[in-house]
Amino acid sequence: MAEAHGCPTTPPHWRDRAACIGEDPEIFFPLSDGLAAGADARAAMAVCRRCPVLLDCRSWAVEHGEDDGIWGATTAAQRRALRRAGHDTLASPVYVRGEAGDTQDE
Ligand code: SF4
Repeated sequence: MAEAHGCPTTPPHWRDRAACIGEDPEIFFPLSDGLAAGADARAAMAVCRRCPVLLDCRSWAVEHGEDDGIWGATTAAQRRALRRAGHDTLASPVYVRGEAGDTQDE
């Protein structure tokens, strides 16, 4: 799944531990960007929430301006907000607690 998701091939060793490997890539690219986009987005978020490299993935997507699909349990709109706020927000308690529209439970 990670390759189909468009992750680079070097040197992202975190990608090898991605929970989305083997998952249907279609669920990570729901037609709408909102959290209520449907079952696909919810299914993708559920996969991300059990992913051991969620923060690596999210950081990569934010840093590379990935503007489509679900990455690191975030929508494109959430990643844009993270970019506007700066990278310190990636580890902020708001996102760790699952507030601000994020779905990470850790
Ligand atoms: S956080 Fe989600 S999209 Fe990113 S590698 Fe893990 S399962 Fe895949």
